[in-house]
Amino acid sequence: MTSEGGFPRAARRFDSVGFSEIVKVRNRVLELLAQGHRVWRFEGGEPYMPTPQPIKEAMAEALARNETRYAPSSGVPELRRAIVEKVRSKNGIPADEESPIVVNGGMHGLFSAFATLLDPGDEVLMLSPYWTPIVDVVAYHGAVPVLVPMPEALRDGITAALSRRKTDRTKVLYWNSPNNPTGYVFSRAECEETCAFVRDQGLALISDEAYEDLIYEGDPHVSPASFPGMADRTLSVFTLSKTYSMTGWRAGYVLVPKRWRTAMQTVVLYSINGVSTPTQWAALAALKLSDGFLAEARAGYRRRRDALVAGLRAAGFEIDPPRAALYLFPRTPPAVASSSVDAARALLDGPRVATVPGVVFGPEGEGHLRFSFSVPEETIAGGVEALKSVAGATAATR
Ligand code: PLP
Repeated sequence: MTSEGGFPRAARRFDSVGFSEIVKVRNRVLELLAQGHRVWRFEGGEPYMPTPQPIKEAMAEALARNETRYAPSSGVPELRRAIVEKVRSKNGIPADEESPIVVNGGMHGLFSAFATLLDPGDEVLMLSPYWTPIVDVVAYHGAVPVLVPMPEALRDGITAALSRRKTDRTKVLYWNSPNNPTGYVFSRAECEETCAFVRDQGLALISDEAYEDLIYEGDPHVSPASFPGMADRTLSVFTLSKTYSMTGWRAGYVLVPKRWRTAMQTVVLYSINGVSTPTQWAALAALKLSDGFLAEARAGYRRRRDALVAGLRAAGFEIDPPRAALYLFPRTPPAVASSSVDAARALLDGPRVATVPGVVFGPEGEGHLRFSFSVPEETIAGGVEALKSVAGATAATR
């Protein structure tokens, strides 16, 4: 059917594409706030601090210089040069000067990367739990997300778990380390093993490195494209959103192997025709920021993480502190509810604590709730107190 009630219907591709479940939670929170309720908000995914001043000033200076015209659609040359320098020295990726394409944040980078590679019917391997929008972006392109359960990969080995699900139609592996929602950071050996699989099977890798800078202890971040032969088959997607508290600016970049560059440039040209020019100058200032900013930001994240871990434990949640990213992903205490959707609803309707149900991140997330610890410290204190009323019930039923 091409029309409904005399109007053309929306494109069929949307029949299999969901709309963010996290946005649904946020809408319910906004509704409660509008009714005058106090809500302890842990459902988000934003840095807790504002954008650093030098980045804001760089935007103002760009405006004063009238940097307000079209820029090359793949990015301002000065910014692309700074990106090449950064990824070579910090990530060990052998990028050339044409590798980076500036995009409208990580989401747009990922959308464009999948658009560059996927045909209808192609299969994309991805470990689960995963960042929610990915399955929908894959489905939008008529391709099929093939979930690889993370517990199985950790138990049997990544190669074994991936091999069981690889078919003739597999084209891409989506990789996200550090991971949202679990905060898991893959080890160098796990990353190397995965890259060997991708190479041996002739696949492409889309590497989502949104949280590369938010690792609080242990081994540093590893970029898959830094391994031999991987830069030629990896689209490395980076965003300034989390590292520099720039979620609202919409700035990121993708490193694109030569063979896919024209396709990716075409996607960017016809979707956004380039990121806003003053924003790109602000992005350049971000990349030039001293490491002091990040060290201070990380200390603030670590403090919040530890406070929320201690508070949730006191409230009856079982939890291991994650090494990275912005989230805790504890099991839901059985007394709250058996499904994660019911648990999130119960915590919102009862103690007014907003979280995201774990099932939104894939079947392996069921039984969990996602809490962001990147929130004001008063929210952690108030939210934990509110949760203790539920904890009482938890302890009573044990
Ligand atoms: N990748 C992951 C794993 C994320 O969690 C996010 C945002 O939450 C993004 C990519 C995209 O971020 P943005 O579009 O703000 O740059």
